[in-house]
Amino acid sequence: MRALPRIVMACAVLLAPLFASGQMLIRWPAGSVLSEPQLAMLGGADNFFGIEKIDDETFARIDGVSYGRGCTTPRKDLRLLHILHRNFAGQTQVGEIICNKAAADDLLAIFRELYDAGYPIEKVYLVDEYGGDDNRSMSDNNTSCFNFRSKPGMTQLSQHALGLAVDINPLYNPYVKGSRVEPASAARYADRSRSCKYYIRQGDICHRAFTRRGWRWGGSWHSSQDYQHFEKNK
Ligand SMILES: [Zn+2]
Repeated sequence: MRALPRIVMACAVLLAPLFASGQMLIRWPAGSVLSEPQLAMLGGADNFFGIEKIDDETFARIDGVSYGRGCTTPRKDLRLLHILHRNFAGQTQVGEIICNKAAADDLLAIFRELYDAGYPIEKVYLVDEYGGDDNRSMSDNNTSCFNFRSKPGMTQLSQHALGLAVDINPLYNPYVKGSRVEPASAARYADRSRSCKYYIRQGDICHRAFTRRGWRWGGSWHSSQDYQHFEKNK
């Protein structure tokens, strides 16, 4: 994870005019942190935001993990998004998201808007980095989208199985149904009367970025509240 950015940096010196043209997508590994001078030298944030089809290399990362056995969402309907976000230290950090192609343009615009606004998102790795285990991903406060799985405690497929739902900062924005909280380690964050700058609230920057584009927020559901969750139909 460390060597690759150094190689890319060396290449960037030689290819600076090309990067500056805004024509090249730079693919640093998720979790890489960029300083402001690095970002400027590499042509700015535009070069780190892009949408790609699921090539063989990417498919090998998700096959049998988030793209589990019996997955009914065709590979051709999925896209890999490269994004930047502000981590909790306020630094520029690289993220990766897999979503449905029908959601790709929306999500690229949403994450760009949140990045430009300085909205804090701690980490954005594919859920495959957690073995496709949503509970591990949520407990680590990882923001993610596609995962071929059912809804919590049900057999019905989740919108995540279609790549049409995103969970943002899930540790601080848990799923709550009565006394049940997921992830369990987030129990203290089920109390929404607390003051927490990572809480998603109605009308805030994150909520508006999604709902303006027709996404629904799980935090406004009645029988349960899924504060991390935004979803859209195709
Ligand atoms: Zn969700």
